[in-house]
Amino acid sequence: MPHSSGGSSHSGGSHSGSSSSSSSSSRSSSGGSSGGSASRISSTPFRGSRRFLYYKDSKPNFIYTNYDVRKKSYDHIIIWAIFFVMLLGPFLGIGGFMAVQSVNFPKKITYFKNKDVEFVVEDNLGVVKDEENLKRAMKDFYKETGIVPAVITVSNDTWNKNYKNLEAYAYDVSLDLFPDEAHWLIIYSTAVKEDGFDDWFCETMQGDRTDPVITEACGKEFNDVLYKRLLQRDQYSVDGALAATFDDFTPKMMRPSLKKAAQFYAFAIMFFGSAIGGVLSLVSAIHKTKEQGKYKHAVPCDLNAVYQGSCNYCGGVYIIGMHTECPHCGAALPPQNYVQDPQGNVIQIFNTKPSKPV
Ligand SMILES: [Zn+2]
Repeated sequence: MPHSSGGSSHSGGSHSGSSSSSSSSSRSSSGGSSGGSASRISSTPFRGSRRFLYYKDSKPNFIYTNYDVRKKSYDHIIIWAIFFVMLLGPFLGIGGFMAVQSVNFPKKITYFKNKDVEFVVEDNLGVVKDEENLKRAMKDFYKETGIVPAVITVSNDTWNKNYKNLEAYAYDVSLDLFPDEAHWLIIYSTAVKEDGFDDWFCETMQGDRTDPVITEACGKEFNDVLYKRLLQRDQYSVDGALAATFDDFTPKMMRPSLKKAAQFYAFAIMFFGSAIGGVLSLVSAIHKTKEQGKYKHAVPCDLNAVYQGSCNYCGGVYIIGMHTECPHCGAALPPQNYVQDPQGNVIQIFNTKPSKPV
């Protein structure tokens, strides 16, 4: 059924048509887990901790942990993945889908393809001054959109006795003349002038097939622009106002437009918020996972292994008693530098080089 795309009158202005139809994982930064107790890394000993030795920048470092820090853990990535699938993913999907849904991508109406098209200008009032130009504008509009406009002018007497308003009359005319539902009928009506008072009305009635192109917002805007022109009688004749308004809209009819702007922005924000949150939390999870990687070569180290020596070849500092080869350059370390007790602890240093406890 056809429906109004809007209308206007001298007194009431224009009216709208009736519509047809970031956060991130908050786990401890230590990663890894053992036996259910929270994994912990500290630079100082704590109850139940074990000491690990690792080297960084040619210097020994100690950390105290309650789990094997050498094992690579993907906990952060796994937690991120769960978080993404459960929360961010759905938000991302719904936001993206609904944002796209609130955009109208007009598709040219193909109803009249291979059919003869007639451009109706039925001027019962005799107000059309340049029918040729009006038809030219209507044809241009059709070429762009596939919708055939039709213009009819009538006297108010034609409809005001049998219909409550021009919209109701235009509805019947549209059904009667254009049952194809692919026309856009514009009826302009006025009374026989008395005292120069112009009691005019204008109604646009679109067939259902035109809906993908003439959206509610588009119909409203068209009627607003047309109404303003119809008020400027010193500048525009009725057909001049119509032709100029068609010419305004023809170039932009097929551009994507927002059906519901508020809905679009809300879901676009949801989409981009989820996307940014997802990327940031993933970067953070990767960073934390990489952080753990630096302990890959750590070795368990007794608390009393404290003496440092420096390599004769590379000068790198190492912990005496922990290595037979330099941890920095791989050179063999002289075993006579220190004496170990039966448990392997260094009990005496023979080194003439300065060495000191850390
Ligand atoms: Zn070395």
